[in-house]
Amino acid sequence: MTATDWASVATRVQAPSGLLIDGAWVEALDGRRMDVVSPIDGARVASIAIGGSADIDRAVRAARTAFEDGRWSGLAPAQRKQVLIAWADLIVARAEELAYLQTLEMGKPAHESLAIDLRAVGTTMRWFGEAIDKVTDEIPHTDPNALALVTREPAGVVGAIVPWNFPLTMAAWKLAPALATGCSVVLKPAEQSPLSALLLAELGMTAGIPAGVLNVVNGLGAEAGAALSAHRDVDVITFTGSTAVGATIMQASAGSNLKRVWLELGGKSANVVFPDADIERAARTAAWSIFFNQGEMCTAGSRLLVHESIHDEVVDLVMDVAAAMQPRNPFADQAPMGALVSASHLDRVDALVQRAKAEGSRLITGGAAAQVEPGGSYYPPTVFDRVDTAASIAQHEVFGPVLAISTFGSDEEAVRMANSTEYGLASAVWTRDLTRAHRVSRALKVGVCWVNCYEEGDLTLPFGGVKKSGFGRDKSLHALEKFWDLKSTWIQLDE
Ligand code: NAD
Repeated sequence: MTATDWASVATRVQAPSGLLIDGAWVEALDGRRMDVVSPIDGARVASIAIGGSADIDRAVRAARTAFEDGRWSGLAPAQRKQVLIAWADLIVARAEELAYLQTLEMGKPAHESLAIDLRAVGTTMRWFGEAIDKVTDEIPHTDPNALALVTREPAGVVGAIVPWNFPLTMAAWKLAPALATGCSVVLKPAEQSPLSALLLAELGMTAGIPAGVLNVVNGLGAEAGAALSAHRDVDVITFTGSTAVGATIMQASAGSNLKRVWLELGGKSANVVFPDADIERAARTAAWSIFFNQGEMCTAGSRLLVHESIHDEVVDLVMDVAAAMQPRNPFADQAPMGALVSASHLDRVDALVQRAKAEGSRLITGGAAAQVEPGGSYYPPTVFDRVDTAASIAQHEVFGPVLAISTFGSDEEAVRMANSTEYGLASAVWTRDLTRAHRVSRALKVGVCWVNCYEEGDLTLPFGGVKKSGFGRDKSLHALEKFWDLKSTWIQLDE
């Protein structure tokens, strides 16, 4: 495959910079704008409108009006399907521009933005578009003198609040099922990644999403995000982000209108490697699973639990991958790792690494910011070995390329260690023994479990966590359930 000419893509990218409210690109009511700074080199790359609570209110009112008059909620599913598929086609056609903007704003390798994120975004829109006219309601068996209907009614106005690590994929995972059901949406992108969301929404309008059905309000989490969570006319909040903010959103719901809240939160996922595994594949994949996307991934394999007997072999292989995945300018051809999202996030990652060192955890590679030619926020693969499972680096989500390796002696100990954090998002089991694979994967308290692989799957599988990793599921037909209310109608027939 020939490499994309990103310099040429840059010359043709044009993204809106306003708020999208009721089908129009507008400035914030108070005229506020914010600079977008690229973590690749610290340069200011754009200025965008940012909204406050009054703008959230405008957007929610537009979404409510659109929902109630049925311009979208009242269409036949097959009509909404056509629009979502047209949107998917536009995403595919403009994938390079979307990928460029995403990398510019949050720093991941551009070739991965294109090959991984944009493929997921287009597929997600198409999949939910294709699905929505194939879902049916229910007619339960009743007394012959009655007819009972269980119908799925769109919930109404959805607030979607998304993070910066997979900005477009997370937006698509929310927008596609919410819009497919007929809901109207107000999207609040992360302040670090506002640009790609604006172009995505523009393509949605071009595809035929009616005015007011999709609104985008960039803004600060504590202002625009908080206003959306506390708004009394929002029916559902679907959120992906940190556990702390997820808790704030639940409180905002409890303090306002008891809107339904769906949370996809943090993680501290473990690769568990048994001696009977394909050790080379397990070790290399485990290392990749924490360094991929700069470790800025809710499912990052941030813990590696290895059987004591294979520890040295596994560590050598992990070090090999760490050496090969050093950060580079994310627009460089096949850069293995890009920039962290911001200088302040880099400081946070580094502070957790320094704390681990101070606590006595043994650093075997990395551990300080990397100097990469464009001069932005780069951090190398960092590995701690023989980490106590109670240590902070084995418990806290770093959201950077930082791995904690620990050893175990028995299957029971491995399960106990894997389950020993407050999170429960993902995990991987590496073994050739089918019984062990089943027993261990069953015992793991997680929402997603991989066996002899990592990050595999497709849209048919639900995605989400347990414990403090949240609840509710993105992807799959189950995602539609977040945006539907079940209505029971009992019709008494004449005797
Ligand atoms: P974050 O929680 O700081 O921000 C996420 C979003 O919430 C942003 O849009 C932000 O503006 C908004 N926000 C911030 N404060 C808010 C408030 N008081 N009220 C309402 N909204 C507010 O998280 P982040 O740093 O952007 O993303 C990293 C986190 O996301 C990590 O913990 C990661 O594990 C998690 N994540 C989870 C999943 C998953 O599916 N489980 C996927 C990706 C990321």
